[in-house]
Amino acid sequence: MPHRITIFDTTLRDGEQSPGCSMNLEEKVRLARQLDALGVDVIEAGFPMASEDDFRAVHAVAREIRRPVIAALARTTRDDVERAWRAIESAARPRLHTFIATSDLHMQHKLRKTRAEVLDMAVGAVRLAKSFTPDVEFSAEDATRSDIGFLCTVVQKAIEAGATTINIPDTVGYTTPTEFERIIRALRERVEGIGRAVLSVHCHNDLGLAVANSLAAVEAGARQVECTINGIGERAGNASLEELVMALYVRRDILPYTTGVATTEIYKSSQLLSSITGVHVQANKAVVGKNAFAHEAGIHQDGVLKERRTYEIMTPESVGIKTNRLVLGKHSGRHALGRKLADLGYPLSRPDLDRAYARFIEIADQKKEIFDEDLIAIVHDGMRDVPEVFRLKMLQATAGSQKPSTATVILETEGREKVACALGDGPVAAAYTAIDEITGFRGRLLDYSIRAVSRGRDAIGEVSVHVDFNGRSFTGKAASTDVVDASARAYLHAVNKGLGLARALDAAETTSALPRLSEVPDGKEDTVGGPMRVADSEGVIRLIHLV
Ligand SMILES: [Zn+2]
Repeated sequence: MPHRITIFDTTLRDGEQSPGCSMNLEEKVRLARQLDALGVDVIEAGFPMASEDDFRAVHAVAREIRRPVIAALARTTRDDVERAWRAIESAARPRLHTFIATSDLHMQHKLRKTRAEVLDMAVGAVRLAKSFTPDVEFSAEDATRSDIGFLCTVVQKAIEAGATTINIPDTVGYTTPTEFERIIRALRERVEGIGRAVLSVHCHNDLGLAVANSLAAVEAGARQVECTINGIGERAGNASLEELVMALYVRRDILPYTTGVATTEIYKSSQLLSSITGVHVQANKAVVGKNAFAHEAGIHQDGVLKERRTYEIMTPESVGIKTNRLVLGKHSGRHALGRKLADLGYPLSRPDLDRAYARFIEIADQKKEIFDEDLIAIVHDGMRDVPEVFRLKMLQATAGSQKPSTATVILETEGREKVACALGDGPVAAAYTAIDEITGFRGRLLDYSIRAVSRGRDAIGEVSVHVDFNGRSFTGKAASTDVVDASARAYLHAVNKGLGLARALDAAETTSALPRLSEVPDGKEDTVGGPMRVADSEGVIRLIHLV
């Protein structure tokens, strides 16, 4: 009888901490729905003490997602644990996850605490958490660089205080499979009552060993693995969920373990995360990379054609990659598009389908062959997670070796059209300046990336941006056969998110420490120059600088 491994997904917590991977509330909820469909056992939804945004996102996930356990992270202080509890108390299955560092290095330099103090804090936090919920996880941060004797003591006391899951993190990705196996075995041999708690591991990938270390721990007796979609996370990331799950699945002949993950949902989960964050996996990424199932060498192709198993240890279908080509064209109807999208794993509501269909027709006019990747880009482009306060009505830009470029932009807002013209180093810069002129936001572009979603000169270009407005960063995304058009709409997507947040904050009249956009003084100049105006005291956007 194979052992069941608990899959603890921390994409929304550890994953979200990675550069460029921050998500807003709607995006976190959307990803959480997919994690539920994927079949993970635990969703760590965030770190509620970190910010008001994080608190609200954890709360929203806890209220909506009912099947998996919803975990919230807290340091060992009373404030942290109480706030984490408030965020998840409405969950069907809440878990409090508290942690403190146990390595001498962290205790001396970061915490400035003695071993005895750390032990007291760990026990106190677990007890407090236990007073709220029976499901309590304790993590000994930097466990792999901790003194094994002290680690055993802390773990034993945490179990005595009521912890039901004990997590052993390799916080800095330092351990190796054989060493980690020894640590897990030592804990199982030396800690009294270790059988009362589930042993968990949380591995980082600084040396590229996160998955290998996690598997070694499983073989040594760990029964929960913490991981993230696409392996995102602090620095080099966390153990990647798809690699772990597929390793257990493909090698079930020698690894007698099962998970509750529906492997056919893996690719879609990976794509959704990339789409939300704009951070795509590298082509040679195991399981979900673009080349993971591509056979280039002639001898390999020949082998696969004769018998797939010659060079394929798993099929693309087993992780949910659909390989059939689309036959839809510009004359295909809404119904056919709806059926095809549902087939690709995107059953759309009527309004979403209407929107996707409108984009599909536009693109079918410009592009002969439409591939599955194009369709997925269209769906994601059509997913509007925020109200479109500003919508692109028209864009005309010039580009070439003669500088500067020019752009004329017409935006529609509240039923009116506003127009602006601007100059720039290139057509995208010119378009962004023109948009700023109309919206009154002056965004600072932190990151801009563009990729062709399929092949050919007429491929759809997908643009992802990270834009800073008043010290807060927002992501935006759009797809089009015209990259300047996609760039402008991706930027507007970020602008609309900024406005959405400003309005939500104003509506909630929160006492949050976050800067309220309505508090930005009138006519404040930023480094680029030019007036900056966002919202009046009612949160209503006033526009200036109209051409
Ligand atoms: Zn971590």
